[in-house]
Amino acid sequence: MPEPIQPRPVFQRLTLIGIGLIGSSVARIARERGDLAAEIVVTDSSPAVLERVAALGFADRIEPDLARAVAGADCVMLCAPVGTYAGIAAAMAPHLAPGAIVTDVGSTKVSVIRDVGPLLPEHVQFVPGHPMAGTEYSGPDAGFTTLFEGRWFLLTPLPGTDPATTERVAEFWRRAGSMVEAMDPVHHDRVMAIVSHLPHLIAFTICGTADDLAVEGGDDVSRSEVLKFAASGFRDFTRIASSDPVMWRDVFLNNRDALLEMLARFTEDSQAMARAVRWGDAPYIEDRIGRGRKIRRSLIELKQA
Ligand code: NAP
Repeated sequence: MPEPIQPRPVFQRLTLIGIGLIGSSVARIARERGDLAAEIVVTDSSPAVLERVAALGFADRIEPDLARAVAGADCVMLCAPVGTYAGIAAAMAPHLAPGAIVTDVGSTKVSVIRDVGPLLPEHVQFVPGHPMAGTEYSGPDAGFTTLFEGRWFLLTPLPGTDPATTERVAEFWRRAGSMVEAMDPVHHDRVMAIVSHLPHLIAFTICGTADDLAVEGGDDVSRSEVLKFAASGFRDFTRIASSDPVMWRDVFLNNRDALLEMLARFTEDSQAMARAVRWGDAPYIEDRIGRGRKIRRSLIELKQA
């Protein structure tokens, strides 16, 4: 039997900047498949992270120096928190190879285009993107090869980007297991504000509220009661609320307008629910709960639950 022909790797040298949950998952799947990148170079601002990456063994080269890490790469992928992107872009710009593709995985897209785009030299192409995949864990140990499998990857290409370049990035993510769709960056940020950023804000807030009650003490709700009876709903919020504080701080601050708009709508709707509870409006309450169930069922059918 002849050996099956391995497709050419999408990139010759892929440099990943920031090797946490997402960066290490990209490295792991690239290493496992072999047809995403011929060589995987990684860099991170944290020496402890790079030390750990060396032990985990999913990179071909570990390069603490950013300039040396990006030199000669035909694809550079930013996988650090979005608040760091401007600094990284400024530092790496003079060292990018002509024809290189710069892409990213950041959870916000308008801010990334604003912060990175103007700093890149003319001879590179910028293709911003965002994998709709994640967990509440962070760091290089948290990544795994199947993170992107069956998940959406959203591309927000710029008007001047060569479609062939965008297609190369799309092909990378399809091989990693994702379904790829292009989206306008402003629209992306509004959609993410409601499906991801607001739910995180609510989870962080509810945990804070419960903790405040516990700290106040007296004969009110105690911390031990919060922990003991958490299974009644609170537990699911704590999973989301255990996400990385720096990553989420940056997401909130870099999608400010869309997040505040969705929060205002949510606050209005919670007030309507509060009014229904106060006045005993059972049909309203039941209708709202029913809508939640319907959304959950649709998610399960779409295999996104
Ligand atoms: P993470 O696990 O916290 O990893 C981020 C890594 O970047 C850390 O190792 C961090 O080092 C490093 N880093 C910080 N500043 C840096 C800099 N200036 N230069 C190089 N490395 C730097 O975060 P993550 O969850 O992988 O998220 C990475 C990106 O993916 C973020 O932009 C996020 O918005 C996006 N994203 C996340 C999810 C998710 O669910 N987590 C989903 C989709 C997209 P230190 O730990 O020392 O700071």
